[in-house]
Amino acid sequence: MSRPQTVADAIDDEATVDLLQDLVRIRSPYFEEAEITEFVYDWLDERDLDPDYHHVSEPDITGYEGDNVVARLEGSDPDAPTLLLNAHMDTVKIVEAWEEDPCSGRIEDGKLYGQGACDMKGGLAGIMVAFEALADADLAGDVLFTAVVDEEGPYGLGADALIRDGYTDDCDAAIVTEPGPILAQSDVENPALILGARGRFLYDVEVTGLAAHGSQPHKGVNAVVDAGRVAEALDELDVDSHPDLGDGSVCPIRIEGGSQTLSVPESARVMVDRHVVIGETKEMVRDQAETAIDDLDLASDVEVGFREAPADDIYYGPYVTDEDHPLVRSLDGATREVAGVDPDVAYFSSVGDFNYFGDRAGLPTVIVGPDGENIHGAGEFVYTDEVVEVARIVAAAAHSYTG
Ligand SMILES: [Zn+2]
Repeated sequence: MSRPQTVADAIDDEATVDLLQDLVRIRSPYFEEAEITEFVYDWLDERDLDPDYHHVSEPDITGYEGDNVVARLEGSDPDAPTLLLNAHMDTVKIVEAWEEDPCSGRIEDGKLYGQGACDMKGGLAGIMVAFEALADADLAGDVLFTAVVDEEGPYGLGADALIRDGYTDDCDAAIVTEPGPILAQSDVENPALILGARGRFLYDVEVTGLAAHGSQPHKGVNAVVDAGRVAEALDELDVDSHPDLGDGSVCPIRIEGGSQTLSVPESARVMVDRHVVIGETKEMVRDQAETAIDDLDLASDVEVGFREAPADDIYYGPYVTDEDHPLVRSLDGATREVAGVDPDVAYFSSVGDFNYFGDRAGLPTVIVGPDGENIHGAGEFVYTDEVVEVARIVAAAAHSYTG
């Protein structure tokens, strides 16, 4: 039997950073992942890790067609736990403000630069080399590698498809190597384990007034004015708190409306971002908004609606993973072995595919990932030593968790 430390030691610094550089040099904004998908597939295939393409199709709203890459290491004991490793291959759209090639992969002072270097090609390289190292170890349980498309896009279609097509059904827990401390709600440093995240709903409030001549506003019902009242009322909503996740939040993020140059506007729309904690459901969020709006007793008709989605279960629900879960204990031990310290524990400030695994798929889910700066912006970079450290922690923890 190889021991976890051996699995971690099998990960080579230089090979990991070279792989990361190759990944960053492939431009892969969401919905344009074909090249990186093929690269990840070929990289696994060249190492006899038996990858598969998993097709992702969303014909109704986005017209998207793409592929996740999945691969499985089979353990010797069918009763041992199965661990999901997940990273996304896409980045945000390349931002304009880069003062150098946004796909350069330039390394300086231990920082590797490029769009998506931190979010999350560092984490993607991490699970790739960890998976390769695990292939040479004796595993009791299975390890399922998943590199997905469209995390940064509108619906998280890659992770959604994994769940919808049953890939998570036999999994017992998940590690997602998204950037760590930089996106945590509290001030922590790597090595850190992120054990949960708030959820998020996006809803629209449609306000319908009555048009009239703009010189005689009393003869109409002004939808723009009522939309302003709605935004103010929603801004003042009371939200729930959670001991780990903190407070929910409400933020009216857009108002659209108005009409012609001399008419009382008959329609307006308020878009609202609502981050939720455990216990705040979609129905509660809707009821709360409707009650607050009813209390305003507006002359306009007002309707609350949730964003159109390919399916009703496509939303980011909140989750928390128990600090005593065996995966967390394995990650604790692996961090001590690899980094010589206990990991910090924190919770994520926003949402991502990990919400799908942690909430929808019901998998105890932990984020452990390399830090950097300027995520989603110009000058994004990742610390290369943290990429290697995360890869070693993931490999050692996966080995120990799956037995
Ligand atoms: Zn990400």
